Amino acid sequence: MSWPINEIRADFPILDQRINEERLAYLDNAATMQSPLPVTRAVDAYYATTHSNVHRGVYTLSNQATAAYEGARQKVATFLNAASANDIVFTRSTTESLNLVACGFGDLVVHAGDEIVISVAEHHSNLIPWQQLAARAGATLKYIELKTDGTFDMTSAAAQITSKTKIVAVAQVGNVMGAINPVTALAQMAHQVGAYLVVDGAQAVSHLPVDVQQLDADFYAFSGHKMGAPTGIGVLYGKPALLEQMDPVQYGGEMISQVTRTTATWKAAPLKFEAGTPNISGAIGLGAAIDYLQQYGLANIQTYEHELMASLLPQLLALPGVTVYGPTDPALRGGVVAFNIDGLHPHDAATGLDLLGVEVRAGHHCAQPLMQDLGVSATARASVALYNNQTDIDQLIDGIKQVKEFFL
Ligand code: PLP
Repeated sequence: MSWPINEIRADFPILDQRINEERLAYLDNAATMQSPLPVTRAVDAYYATTHSNVHRGVYTLSNQATAAYEGARQKVATFLNAASANDIVFTRSTTESLNLVACGFGDLVVHAGDEIVISVAEHHSNLIPWQQLAARAGATLKYIELKTDGTFDMTSAAAQITSKTKIVAVAQVGNVMGAINPVTALAQMAHQVGAYLVVDGAQAVSHLPVDVQQLDADFYAFSGHKMGAPTGIGVLYGKPALLEQMDPVQYGGEMISQVTRTTATWKAAPLKFEAGTPNISGAIGLGAAIDYLQQYGLANIQTYEHELMASLLPQLLALPGVTVYGPTDPALRGGVVAFNIDGLHPHDAATGLDLLGVEVRAGHHCAQPLMQDLGVSATARASVALYNNQTDIDQLIDGIKQVKEFFL
């Protein structure tokens, strides 16, 4: 399909502004994707017409809010191809989802002498919960190493995943190397030894079709704000038998079945994991974001973003004095590319680019062990979304050339 870029960009008025008197090229989508008008309108409409608490009212407005909230849960289930909306837990974010699995499920299945396997490229939110679980349980945290092109070394994965492994936790798309990781193969390897596969989908959900049943993921975590939804809403998908087994980690209103002075029992999943008043407007915004992405189709979005990366990557690689991290073949990547300019701190590079209207991230990207392996303290990082265009790519490349001239 020819990409309706003008129609799409019209839905993101934030893009149509000048930053430091320059055209805005927003290329920090891996941190947060902008929200399209249908999302902000859905949230506005909720507050204008339906706002009330969910699951507890006997009156019409509350029933409408509950229907909208549960409708959003069903949209997420369909989006991920989960078997049922009951497999979808609303959380605050990827971070909260992964902490929930590590504490609510990890504490049940990981014991002294067991092993947890992650990759060296994980975001801290898919690293520290496992590091902490390993410390609590007396288990060992092991790492899948990367090949020189930044993709997973599957020989290393085969060596690390053993009969002692209880959990394998990896990102579907890396937030620094940008590689699309072999999640299905890892699910098979984990399941062969009786371990569970947890997938961090933060960098995948708005960029490629996700089918949790096809991936055979036991748990799948993501954040709404990385796919055009508001901040403060996230999702944990879990296989139903595992959610049933998993313990809540927060307690309070709405998650209980029966309470006495000395005991309490829980509702069934997913509500037993959603103590207190949830982020109702966030869930509704997430439902609208899903509708928006599905209107264009995730496979089409992937193809379009791949075209952008196929333009960006060779140009970046061809720039003298620029180091690009991760696969050089755009087919192996999502929409993220980390880079450094020789002799220039990435914070200076990103500040220089900002003066030219180009917004990129600079830092360790919450992946310090990976930075240590790469021998750097930080990198710059550009990342695309469905609304970026060739002008954004040209502006970035031209901006890097100008920044080099200015600083070096
Ligand atoms: N995992 C990956 C791969 C990410 O890129 C991010 C955010 O950058 C996260 C987890 C954490 O997401 P959040 O801060 O929304 O919880």
